[in-house]
Parts: sequence; C-alpha cells; structure tokens
Amino acid sequence: MKLLSANKQLLVFSFLILLTACTNKEWSKEYGDVDIADEKQTENWLAYGRTHNERRFSPATDINAGNVADLKVDWFMDLPKDVGLVSTPLVVDGVLFFTGTMNIIRAVNAVTGELLWEFDPKVRDAIHGRRQAGMVHNRGLSYSKGKIFFATWDGRLIALNADNGEEIWSAVTFDPDRALYITGAPKAFKDKVLIGNGGTENGPTRGWVTAYNADTGEEAWKFYIVPGNPADGFENKAMEMAAKTWTGEWWKHGGGGNAWHGFTYDEELDVLYIGTGNGSPWNRKIRSPDGGDNLFLCSIVALKPDTGEYLWHYQTTPGDTWDYNSNMDIVLADLKIKGKDVKAILHAPKNGFFYVIDRETGKLISAEPFAETTWASNVDITTGRPVEIEGARYENEPADVMPSPWGAHSWHAMSYSPATGLAYIPTLHEGRNFSDEGFNLKEWRVVKFNQHEKGVNLSGLEKPPRPYPASLQAWDPVKNKLAWAIPQEHFWNAGTLTTAGNLVFQGRSDGIFLAYDGQTGKILWEFNTGLGISAPPITYKINGKQYIALLVGFGGAYAGFSSLEAHQLGWAYKMHMRRLITFSLNGTVELPKLPPPYIPKPIVDANFIIDDTLAKQGADWFNTKCFNCHGYGMYSGGMAPDLRASPIPLDANAFKMVVKEGLKNEMGMPSFPDITDDELETLRHYIRKRGEETLPDYKQLDEIAVVSNN
Ligand code: CA
Repeated sequence: MKLLSANKQLLVFSFLILLTACTNKEWSKEYGDVDIADEKQTENWLAYGRTHNERRFSPATDINAGNVADLKVDWFMDLPKDVGLVSTPLVVDGVLFFTGTMNIIRAVNAVTGELLWEFDPKVRDAIHGRRQAGMVHNRGLSYSKGKIFFATWDGRLIALNADNGEEIWSAVTFDPDRALYITGAPKAFKDKVLIGNGGTENGPTRGWVTAYNADTGEEAWKFYIVPGNPADGFENKAMEMAAKTWTGEWWKHGGGGNAWHGFTYDEELDVLYIGTGNGSPWNRKIRSPDGGDNLFLCSIVALKPDTGEYLWHYQTTPGDTWDYNSNMDIVLADLKIKGKDVKAILHAPKNGFFYVIDRETGKLISAEPFAETTWASNVDITTGRPVEIEGARYENEPADVMPSPWGAHSWHAMSYSPATGLAYIPTLHEGRNFSDEGFNLKEWRVVKFNQHEKGVNLSGLEKPPRPYPASLQAWDPVKNKLAWAIPQEHFWNAGTLTTAGNLVFQGRSDGIFLAYDGQTGKILWEFNTGLGISAPPITYKINGKQYIALLVGFGGAYAGFSSLEAHQLGWAYKMHMRRLITFSLNGTVELPKLPPPYIPKPIVDANFIIDDTLAKQGADWFNTKCFNCHGYGMYSGGMAPDLRASPIPLDANAFKMVVKEGLKNEMGMPSFPDITDDELETLRHYIRKRGEETLPDYKQLDEIAVVSNN
C-alpha cells in the first residue's frame, strides 16, 4: 500500500466514502417494521407515535431535566400559507417530513431547515363544488421502506418517493362527493397501508378501514366497523355477531363507528389495533331504538394484519349516545402488574376512563376514571362493562353529563415513558347538557347533509366541573392512579412527548411551549411561540445533537367549529405566522416577533338594511355549511376568516365569487356552485346581523384581560 501514489490513495478513499454513502442510502430504504419498532434508536422518528408502540418516548438523554433550561431556537421555517397545524413530523436519516394545511407535504433538512422538496396534492381542485365537511388540517404521515404515505381531506391515499417527493401511486379511498373526510395519518405495516375516515357527524355513514398494498396502491382488504342491512348478507362472521347488538333499522342511519385516528401495529404480536368512533347519529334512541351495545362502536378492534380478519374487541362505551368515541391513541407498553409481566394496551378515550388491556387476550386489566365521569360510576372488572349512572342517557329528561363530546381526552397525543412508568395525558374537563326533547325520534332522519346533525341538542353546563377547563395529567397505569396534574387556564392544549431525560414536553393553546419534570410535573422551561399550539413535539438526534421540533399553528376542530372561548384566545385568521420551530441546547436564533393576540372587530354598515326574515334563512344555511370553519355563532377560532369582520360579504359580487365560484379554493374555502343568488343574499343578511348583534360585546384582548383580572 505504501507504493500507492497520493492520487491513488485519494481515489481509494473516495471510493470507500462513496461505498459507505451508498450503503447508508440502501440501508435507509430498508427501514421496515423491525426498525420502526426499535425503541432504542434515538436518531429517527419513523412512525406517527415515533415507533410502532406509539409511546412518543425517546431514550435520548442529551437534553434532560438538568439542562433543559438552556433550550433555544436552533432553526425555524415560516409557513405563510398554512393555517391550522396539528401534525406530527417524521424524521428519517436527517430529513424531516411534515403535512401542512391543505395536505401539502414538505421535506426539510432536519439540521438546517432547508426545504428539500414540496408536494401539493391539489386539494383545492378536489374540493371544488363538492359536499365538504371542511377539514383543512391533517395530523400526519407514515413511512416505510423509502416511501412516505399520507391521505387527503377529499379521501385520496398517496405514496411518495421519500427521496424526491415524486408520486408513486394514489388511491381513491371514498367517493369525494360524500361528506366524509380524512384528517388522520395512515399506518404503514407489513408492506401495507391502512386508512379510515371521519364523518359520523356529517351524514349517514357506515365506518370502515381499508389496507392498501404499499407498492402498488391496490386494495388488500377492507373491514367494516358496523354491520349493514342483514338482508344484504354479512361480509364476515364478525359482522354477523355485531348485528345481534343492534336494533331497529340502524343501517338507514349508517351506524357510524368511523376510524379517523388511532391505528397501532403490534410488531411483536403481529396484530393490528384500530380505535373506532361513535354512532351515527349520536342518539342511540334513533340509531338503535330498542337498545343494544352496537358493536363495534367506541371499541378497540384487533385484526389480523395480513387479511383484516377479526381477532377480538374491547368496547369502552357500549351503546354510546354521547359521542364517546375510542379513536384515541392505542399505546403499547410492557408492564409488571402484581408481579406478572403484561403486554398491555394503554388507552384514554373520550369517555374519561383510563384502560389497561391485556393485548394478548383482549381482556380488561383495569379501568379507572382520569377525569369527571358522570355517565358511569366505574367499570366492572369482572364483566369489563361500565356501570352507568341512571339518567345519564337522557332517557326521560335532559341530563348534565361529563365528559363533554370533546372528551376527557381527544386526539392530542398521550405519551408513555417506561422510565417513569407514567402516561402523560392532555386532559379536558368539560360537560354538556344533553337533550332530545322536541325531537320526533321515530321519524328522525338526517336532512341537511353536511351539518352536525346528531339527533340530540347540547348546551353548556351551568356550573363547570372545575375552575379550570384542562390539565396535563401524569397517570400511573400500574397503580391505576394519578401521579400528578397541572391545571391549565385554557382548553384544547396539544399532545405530549416524553424522553429518558426525565422530561415531558407540551404546547398550550395560549402559545406557551413547556418542558416538565416527568416525575414531579415541575415546570423546567417555557417558551412563548406567539401563537396557539395544537401539534405535538417530536425529538431526533443528528451528529450527536438532540433536537426538539414543533409545528406552531392553532388548529383542529375546536379552532374550526370554535366558540366564544376559542375565539377569545385571539388567534385571528392569518394574523400570526405559522411556523415549524426546532430547538436545541446550543441554538442561537431569535424568532421574529408576532403581533399580540387579536380579536377581529365586527363591521357595521349603516347602508346595509338588515331584513330579519332573510337573516333567519341565512342562519339556517350558515349552520348547515359554514360553521365547521367559520365558527359557531360566527366567532372564528382562526381556521377561517371571521365573517363579521370581513369586507367581502358587504359586496354582493365579491361574496358570490368566493362562495359560489370558488375564488378562495386554494385557501381551503370550498365552492358551492348550486347556491342561488337569493340564498347568497340571505347569508349576507345573517352575517351583517351577527355583526350588529355582537358588536356591543366586542372587546379587544387587553380589555378582556383587565376584566378577568378584576
Ligand atoms: Ca364524533
């Protein structure tokens, strides 16, 4: 070797580097189920919940309880076109992938923040003129063997080449003229990709999930969540069994059960778990008038991953009538319970009980309330069934019930740390009054497709259960009790991340991003991002340096349907720059300041003479088609413009161009080609009326703050 010239030595050296690079590249393409299930690696974030176990726990300890106070911005990326950001990014070999508003996918250098590629599935064209449920936000994507998988609002499942963002295949998972939608991440496992959809509130629907071939996009199998009309025959034995738990003519209402979020692949046991949704409609008296559990609503259903065959189920809310779906995270943990090793599922669905289930058998191990549960006193461990509280089903009269249909826990990620043995739950503390008085239950049918027709009326409770609407809770699944809880002033806080550095990270809807001591809940670090946070953070490690990344952009259903409370957070549409922010211990970047929280002021036009009859008709239209994004009572939560403060409805022509002709399709505003000029006029009258009605109560945020301080 001594005889090799310097040039030749260089050549050999270059060849070796090239070989190493090629080897790494090939190796990265092979990240499959075993790699995705690997809890030990700290470099990547390969699945929605980091690994197949969905724990959102990283063993990285570089950033830890001792030094997290030094966490600073390392790089950020402005996202001026985005609105609600609720997504969990993925990190694969130094590239960070995320889904933004209108399902735009970006790949970014995870060290520098440089944009590598962007893929636009052109949702604006797909929604044009269709019946839309209005869901511009999306929670994430899935990775396997060099491909990125994601699904669009209008129901397409798409595979991209992770290297360059080129489309490999695209599959239509439902007819885009149906008022269904997808906001969830698909699940890649065993060379297949699973996806479901949402829409139980938007029309009669029979929920299902489909698995597609990851290489070709061809359908591999399909599993229905609720039975169809028995006269048509059953697809399988599971549906035949499920049909025995329904009464009346449920199939005419669809039944529901849509799987819009929690999918977990158990690589160790080779089982797929899906979390299922509530009934369609909500009120069981309509859906299944003589009672019944209504399988497989509000359940965890275990399926064979190769064929989609039913294995077992555990139903958390039999005969649901409160929207207590079980779509929430399905987290896999290995626990020691009473001296016995248990392969467990941890699950904290909307209904307020924390479930520990033996995932080898589907048997319930424990279920204790982690929030106020006035619909059931407890869960009977022998039968596995909840012990319901009389009257909670609003059988004979209206009932105050907790949790509210927002749930004690929604899709905001729960994490689980095997180091502390605790699950970290973004918890909500609200209730609702449920009433179906005045409904003709026998004749009830969805008539105004696309609105929230539930067969029950809801109103707020006179007295909230606690002085605060939310908390971050640490739950011990072995002792079945709360380890610690931090009360929070505002509703709808984001999902959690936990690490072996004894840390829990969570962003709040008021824009503060925090790190807590995992064992005690003590606040160790906080950072004001300047905008409400709805997405969970992730962590990854490149060249020995640990990063924490977070999408900042208030969003999700609470920001869309909104309410006066969501509106008063002050995250007015397009006022605050959406961002991807990445932190490290030696970051040096200053974030450009954002404007303070802001409440749009309703416009009143003295020349616009409001006709109350027209306004009333306009209200009907608004409450059918518009409030999903523009807010309940027209109080926008920031997902779409506050119509009371927009100049567009003042101009009949401009209004027509936006609503009928689709001028703002690109921003996520669907077009309504069939709307008549008369209907447009009624909407304008209603918008002006709401502007006038709400102006006397208008206050800018500092005034609100002063009032609440008094
Ligand atoms: Ca629901």
